[in-house]
Amino acid sequence: MADSTAIAANLETVRGQIAHAARAAGRAPDEITLIAVSKTHPRAAVQAALAAGAHVFGENRVQEAAEKFPLAGVRLHIIGGLQSNKALAAVRLADSIDSLDRESLADAIARAAQTAGRLPELLVQVNIGDEPQKSGIPTARADTFIRAMRARFGESLRGLMCIPPLQADPVPYFRRLAAMADEHGLPVRSMGMSGDFPAAIAAGATHVRIGTAIFGHRPPQSQGEGQLAQ
Ligand SMILES: *Cc1c(COP(=O)(O)O)cnc(C)c1O
Repeated sequence: MADSTAIAANLETVRGQIAHAARAAGRAPDEITLIAVSKTHPRAAVQAALAAGAHVFGENRVQEAAEKFPLAGVRLHIIGGLQSNKALAAVRLADSIDSLDRESLADAIARAAQTAGRLPELLVQVNIGDEPQKSGIPTARADTFIRAMRARFGESLRGLMCIPPLQADPVPYFRRLAAMADEHGLPVRSMGMSGDFPAAIAAGATHVRIGTAIFGHRPPQSQGEGQLAQ
């Protein structure tokens, strides 16, 4: 893990790169929200990033997130594949659940929202490369699913999220997700990670999810992070 000085320096670098990519694409830097992905990193790392001005964080696993959040002044996104039996904990903790990808999870979230008396913002995760090992609604079913989620959750459905195939040029996938969001009139497109966020910004990302470039490398992959399937 990077120490707090490194985290602050990394954040500044990433912010500069986001601003540069935005301007190069004729966009305003403040159209892009940086989600600092703190999964596997300790609370101290989150606090270092917070002290350096990060105020939106992303975590993959609800249980791990609950050990670090909530924190005052911080928005938390759950960005990892979510099991239905974790929906209540996620609904209580998160400001946004970015991995809505099936009816059964929508049911669980709706029930949890009733119990908790709050409904986070939601993003539909699209399996934009139709990869069997990845979470996300398959592209062929995406339009129908997005419409159903819009009807069910109204304005709480904010947009779409994707993770393109690792070994491919991500740009066509980013463009496809942006086009889908446009077609459905959804404002949020969460796409782009440490390795490809400038291209995602050029393709219309409103949210980029950046872990490694801020916090340093993660320990070898654990279960539950499997949706990245590296
Ligand atoms: C881990 C993760 C990220 C961050 O990846 P980096 O390459 O470390 O920036 C982004 N999105 C999701 C869904 C993740 O699980």
